[in-house]
Amino acid sequence: MHITDIFQASTPTFSFEFFPPKTEASSDRLYHAIRELESLKPSFVSVTYGAGGSTRDLTHDLVVRARKELNVTTIPHLTCVCHQEADIQGILTRYAGHGISNILALGGDPPIGLDGYDKANDAFQHAVDLVRFIKTFNDSGVHPDPKGRGFGIGVAGFPEGHPGTPNRLIEMDYLKAKVDAGADYICTQLFFDNHDFYDFRERCILAGIHVPIVAGIMPIVSAKGMKRMADLAAGSRYPAPLLKSIQRAGEDAEAVKRVGIHWATEQCRDLLDHDVAGIHFYTLNQSNATRQIFQNLGASDSGGLRGG
Ligand SMILES: Cc1cc2nc3c(=O)[nH]c(=O)nc-3n(C[C@H](O)[C@H](O)[C@H](O)COP(=O)(O)OP(=O)(O)OC[C@H]3O[C@@H](n4cnc5c(N)ncnc54)[C@H](O)[C@@H]3O)c2cc1C
Repeated sequence: MHITDIFQASTPTFSFEFFPPKTEASSDRLYHAIRELESLKPSFVSVTYGAGGSTRDLTHDLVVRARKELNVTTIPHLTCVCHQEADIQGILTRYAGHGISNILALGGDPPIGLDGYDKANDAFQHAVDLVRFIKTFNDSGVHPDPKGRGFGIGVAGFPEGHPGTPNRLIEMDYLKAKVDAGADYICTQLFFDNHDFYDFRERCILAGIHVPIVAGIMPIVSAKGMKRMADLAAGSRYPAPLLKSIQRAGEDAEAVKRVGIHWATEQCRDLLDHDVAGIHFYTLNQSNATRQIFQNLGASDSGGLRGG
């Protein structure tokens, strides 16, 4: 289903992000998690795209399998890293052939340990260039969307700011350029203080950005995971009250998890009270934390969270 139709059908949206598993055992575990989360009736799920190598095909395989086997819209992530125009054209044609309706178009993380990588050799220097390319693909009419729109397009937004552009005014111009180029929605980086999200949302409106903004939420489930995420989601800020609670939990892994899930639950409750367009859960391929948040909010599925 095209993302515009998803937002029109029912908001807020509730969506889950997965990454492609590398081994058969983790693949089975992921399918178990997806099946469990399917019962929460997500608006869509998305699948990340690695910085290079074989995991890229795994994204394609997982997207196509999920599209076939699950009754849910599946959105592949696609990045500029290590790609030429012909690669992207091939990937888009393949996805169109499988009836995939949307793409999340990203700059991409730089590949770790890929010797000799030079961003200057990529055909697209920024996500905006990828959005423009997808738009041109859409105009070619190859995509089977019944309304002739081609792929719905999502882009990334950063409530706390992206470390690559310290000037937040210019950063907003770049985000606006992605929307003007054809993005239908923005999905944000994870954040732990809702004020950052509300401020970002207001700054978007001031900049003339009027597409839906989906809030990225990641429940902390372990102290180790929190430290890893601080590395991956560069610039992520953990508020002191959250850190204090994690510190209180000490070595008690279950207590850390409870604190993380409680914090994310409160974030979601507050976002729902402030008319959020959607909540995107970074599931880390686990179902427990997300299911627990739904339960804490008194809902058995997405419809329940919308109030019926
Ligand atoms: C929801 C979400 C999902 C993600 N999924 C993945 C994934 O699957 N795989 C992956 O590798 N990474 C993923 N990332 C990480 C993301 O690719 C990186 O954070 C990347 O550095 C920024 O992506 P972007 O799409 O905002 O890139 P861009 O829009 O290209 O921005 C990157 C930097 O360049 C600046 N910039 C933008 N346009 C211009 C311009 N025209 N001129 C000069 N500077 C410009 C921006 O301000 C920013 O600092 C994800 C991030 C989010 C928020």
